[in-house]
Amino acid sequence: MTKTVVVIGAGVVGVSAALRLQSELAPTGGQVILLDRKGVAEETSAGNAGAFAFTDLEPLATPGIMKKAPAWLLDPLGPLSVPPAYALQLTPWLIRFWRASWRDRYQKVVSAQASLMQLAQAATERLITDTKGEAMMQRDGALQLYESEGEFAASQRGWQLRRDHGIRFTLLHSPAEIAEIQPGLSPRFTHAGFTPDWMNTCDPKAWVEHLFQIFMARGGQLRRAEVRDLETGGEDLCLLTDGESVRANNVVVAAGAWSHHLTRRLGDRLPLETERGYNTTLPAGCFDLRTHITFCRHGFVVSRIRGGVRVGGAVELGGLKRPANFKRADTLLAKAARFMPELDTADGTRWMGFRPSLPDSLPVIGNAKSDARVVYAFGHGHVGLTQSAATAELVADLVLRRDPAIDLSPFAPDRF
Ligand SMILES: Cc1cc2nc3c(=O)[nH]c(=O)nc-3n(C[C@H](O)[C@H](O)[C@H](O)COP(=O)(O)OP(=O)(O)OC[C@H]3O[C@@H](n4cnc5c(N)ncnc54)[C@H](O)[C@@H]3O)c2cc1C
Repeated sequence: MTKTVVVIGAGVVGVSAALRLQSELAPTGGQVILLDRKGVAEETSAGNAGAFAFTDLEPLATPGIMKKAPAWLLDPLGPLSVPPAYALQLTPWLIRFWRASWRDRYQKVVSAQASLMQLAQAATERLITDTKGEAMMQRDGALQLYESEGEFAASQRGWQLRRDHGIRFTLLHSPAEIAEIQPGLSPRFTHAGFTPDWMNTCDPKAWVEHLFQIFMARGGQLRRAEVRDLETGGEDLCLLTDGESVRANNVVVAAGAWSHHLTRRLGDRLPLETERGYNTTLPAGCFDLRTHITFCRHGFVVSRIRGGVRVGGAVELGGLKRPANFKRADTLLAKAARFMPELDTADGTRWMGFRPSLPDSLPVIGNAKSDARVVYAFGHGHVGLTQSAATAELVADLVLRRDPAIDLSPFAPDRF
C-alpha cells in the first residue's frame, strides 16, 4: 500500500520533516502533502537569528533562575517580560517552568538536549550535503560576551557543560583578545567565550524555501489550508480544513506555537506557550560583523543576515493574540548601537516571532496518545532551526515505525 502523509505547518520543522519523508516514501510511490494556512516560512521560521546553536545545551529553566527573574521583570523592556494582563493565564506554565529548574530535572533536560543536539549537528550536515546547501551557510563561530569578571565567573557552569560534552571553545580574558575575533566592540566587554564550530545560515527564510523547492522537486505537494480538526476514528485519518477535507495514513503536527490547538482535539493538553522575540534587520554595509555575537547579560544577539546585521532576541511571555510591542526591538537596537559604536542603525526592518516553548525547553517529539498514526513535532523554543533536521529524521523514524536514533522518552508528549 502506498502511504500518504500530511504535515501540518510549513515552518522549518514541518518543511524539513516533509522533505525527509518525501525522500523516503517516493521510491515506493508514497506522497507527502504539506498544509499551511499562510504559505512557506511565513511565521517564526522566517525572521529568526539564523543560528545553528548546537553548542547551547542549557535550558531556560536553570537552577536559581527564579531568584534572578524578578529583577529582569522589573524592566518592561528588559530581556524577560510578562504583560501584567497575561500573568494569571501564564501561571500554570510558570509553575512547570520553576519545577523544570530543580537540579535533578535540570540535569535530565541537559542530557536529553545534548543527545538531540549531537544528532542535530550530524543530521544538519547530512541535509546540507543532500540539498547542496553549503552556499547558504556561514561557518564563522560565535562569541558570547561578558562585561565583568563576576559575570564571566557565573557563566562557567555553562562552559563546563560544553567541556563535558566535548564541545570546542576558547575563553578570552581581555578586550584585545576579543578584538582579534571581532573588532569594533565597546571595551565594556572584558571577557568572552568563542565556539568555532557554531554556524549560521545567511537567511533562515531562504533556507526553508530552499528545502521546500527540493521537497517539491522530489514530488511533494503544498496546499494552502487551515486545519481546524482531526478525525482519527476511521481507517484513514481525516483533516477538516477551511476548504476541502484531506485524508492521510499519517499526520505530522508541526504547527509551531499553534500546535496545542490541534493536539487538544486529540485529547493531549500540552503546556505550550509562546516566548515572543523581536529583532531589527539592517542592510548590508551597516557593520563589519565577522561572527555571531551574544550579549549575555542583555539577552540578545547580532548575526549576519543577507550581508546585513540582524539585532534581536529577548523573551516576552505574551501569548498569541496581543499586538507586537516594537519598542522592544527599538530598545535592543539602541543597546546594540552602544555596544558596537560603528553600527549604522538606519533603514532597519522590525519583526516579531512566536517561539513555541514548553516549560522544560525540550520539544515534543512523539506519538499522539489516542492514535499513534499522528506524530507531534513542535515546541523547539529558541532552537527550532538548530534542531529541525534532527527532528525530521526522528519524525520519519516514528512514521515508518523504526527505532529512533536517540531515546525519545524525555521528549514524550505525556511527560507533563
Ligand atoms: C527572535 C527569534 C530568534 C530566533 N533565533 C533562532 C536561532 O538563531 N536559531 C534557532 O535554532 N532558532 C531560533 N529561533 C527559534 C525558531 O525560529 C523557532 O523555534 C522555529 O522557527 C519554529 O519553527 P516551527 O516550524 O516549529 O514553527 P513556525 O515557523 O512558526 O511554523 C509553524 C507553521 O504552522 C502553520 N500553522 C499553524 N497552525 C496551523 C493550522 N491550524 N493549519 C495550518 N497551518 C497552521 C503556521 O502558519 C506556520 O507556518 C528564534 C526565534 C525568535 C522569535
